[in-house]
Amino acid sequence: MPLVAVVVLVVALTTLFTLFVRPKDIPAPEPVSPARHLEDRKAVIYENLRDLQFEYRVGKLSDADYQQTKLMLQKELAGVMAEIDRITLVSPSKTAPAKSPREKSKAAIAPASKSTMPSDREPGNTCPHCGAKFPNPMKFCGECGKAMG
Ligand SMILES: [Zn+2]
Repeated sequence: MPLVAVVVLVVALTTLFTLFVRPKDIPAPEPVSPARHLEDRKAVIYENLRDLQFEYRVGKLSDADYQQTKLMLQKELAGVMAEIDRITLVSPSKTAPAKSPREKSKAAIAPASKSTMPSDREPGNTCPHCGAKFPNPMKFCGECGKAMG
């Protein structure tokens, strides 16, 4: 087999592999939650605090610089923590299950009451002479035999 043919075959197989096999192996992207990037920021601040303590210990920073930067980072951390608390408290996953069953039961009742009401009043279903009711509109009453509607 000539080398060119082998190269072409390998390229073709690689292309096929990336086109048809790879997409299945790639996991579906996780839904990005608003708390997610806050958790990332929190991790970054923690890392900065660790670096700061290290630099202070090895003598790279003055007391004033260390205290000032530490305070700044702790303030930012408190802000991020408060934001995470706010988001997790108002999380839609907690409010949604309480709301949806009520809305569902309402929707289930509404069409049922609507469909029974007009059929009772429908002129073709109730005999105007004897008042007999029938499930379907009829030309003549099945009770008294008089013309309905
Ligand atoms: Zn009748």
